[in-house]
Amino acid sequence: LEEQVRRSDRLKMIGQIAAGTAHEIRNPLTAIIGFMQLLNKALSDREMDKERRYVGIVLAELDRVNGLVSEFLLLSKQKESKLVLLRVEHVLKEIMPMIRNEALLHGVTVVYRAKSGAPPVMADKELLKQVFLNLGKNAIEAMGEGGTLTIRECHSPHDLGKICVEFDDTGPGIPVDVLEKMFDPFFTTKAQGTGLGLSVCQRIVDDLGGGIAVATSTEGTRFTVWLPAPDGGAQSPYDV
Ligand code: ADP
Ligand code: MG
Repeated sequence: LEEQVRRSDRLKMIGQIAAGTAHEIRNPLTAIIGFMQLLNKALSDREMDKERRYVGIVLAELDRVNGLVSEFLLLSKQKESKLVLLRVEHVLKEIMPMIRNEALLHGVTVVYRAKSGAPPVMADKELLKQVFLNLGKNAIEAMGEGGTLTIRECHSPHDLGKICVEFDDTGPGIPVDVLEKMFDPFFTTKAQGTGLGLSVCQRIVDDLGGGIAVATSTEGTRFTVWLPAPDGGAQSPYDV
């Protein structure tokens, strides 16, 4: 618990710093990306292939900066979260094309086990999508060619107040020293990583009153996200 409090305090502090800068960066960045895209178009109309290649590289790097700023904004909670009743199943369905696309690029197989009949959770849809996307991406990035990502809704009738989703990978597992630090902002073992993915997940799930559990071995890793179901899992009149 002490560890969790420390972690949450640090996240708050980082969030405040991030809040001050991310917005200031986002506005000019949006303009830069927009004009670069126009330039890209103009160069292609004039068949200036070499110049177009340079602009392509700039756009790809801007995309990375943009992703980083988005993660900052998520951490800093600058965005008002819009809580609505929604079904995890629907949220997962919306992100599956993105997960499958990412998996395809890495030669990873995706298995998705939906489970209908779950009660809805109270959450911001975009933020919850971000959580599932981050966990899915991490799982895919941990594996190479031939790996399998299994996404499973796993609420049970014996645990009515909770909804959970598991992300299983067949990757190498997480060593203890990484396990201890992986939720820290900026901690990454990847050359191109931001180290903000799990911090963002933690922040969002904490705010919803849920949690993230990790189980790992040399055979693979499982991240389980659980969220409270506000009606305690009773038959729900909502069809969202
Ligand atoms: P990033 O993905 O940018 O590195 P994250 O916060 O998402 O940042 O993850 C932090 C670190 O946790 C990763 O760099 C990686 O070492 C480790 N990690 C996260 N998920 C997994 C996983 N499924 N298998 C192995 N390692 C993982
Ligand atoms: Mg990540």
